[in-house]
Amino acid sequence: MNVSEISRMADRIAAIRATLPPSVRLIAVSKQVPVEAMRAAYEAGIRDFGESRIQEAAQKQTELADLSDVVWHMIGHLQANKAQKAVQLFQWIHSVDELKLAQRLDRVAADLSHKPNICLQVKLLPDPHKFGWTPEALWNDLTSLDQCHHLNICGLMAIAPLGLTPTELTSFFQETGVLADKIRSQNYQNLPIRELSMGMSGDYAIAVDAGSTMIRLGRILFGDRPPVA
Ligand SMILES: *Cc1c(COP(=O)(O)O)cnc(C)c1O
Repeated sequence: MNVSEISRMADRIAAIRATLPPSVRLIAVSKQVPVEAMRAAYEAGIRDFGESRIQEAAQKQTELADLSDVVWHMIGHLQANKAQKAVQLFQWIHSVDELKLAQRLDRVAADLSHKPNICLQVKLLPDPHKFGWTPEALWNDLTSLDQCHHLNICGLMAIAPLGLTPTELTSFFQETGVLADKIRSQNYQNLPIRELSMGMSGDYAIAVDAGSTMIRLGRILFGDRPPVA
């Protein structure tokens, strides 16, 4: 990144930040973004980075080890055999999408004496391209999730399907919030679902209006990613 690109990114971060309630956490999604640009984002005030691949995140954490107050968020689909790496690398895992994975994370968290923050990925509308619990399936798994004492299961994560109108997006995000409220009202001991991880570059303003507490922004901060090969 050259100097003017860096200053434009800092301006974009400041402009977006200014529109957000202070309680909303802005996660800069840095998958496929070089560490130089991440450093520039850090200089511009970013402290939360979202990555979707274990290996890429591990490499970047080594290169950015001097930025000791960065909080790392796993936002991509996680295979069970990478659960241990994920708990070692990330303070937040947003993409926990089935009970078996949660239970595996719980076991490795116990072994490592970590207590990662977890969002349960939910799928309120059918979407063949996305992972996640349907509300019914999640409801059935709550009692077992409540037993995962080494996880801080504190939020829901949702990705809106492509092609929704603004009105449809609003109801999609609001319904995610209603599901969180419903879970909270069951008073499980270990499921304090207060966080809503929802909103990306194209829909974050709508998500924030609908109650999002964590937005995950990639392209709007760093520019378009190269197409996936
Ligand atoms: C890539 C990604 C984002 C960021 O998307 P943008 O459209 O670039 O803002 C957010 N959340 C998840 C789960 C992602 O995979």
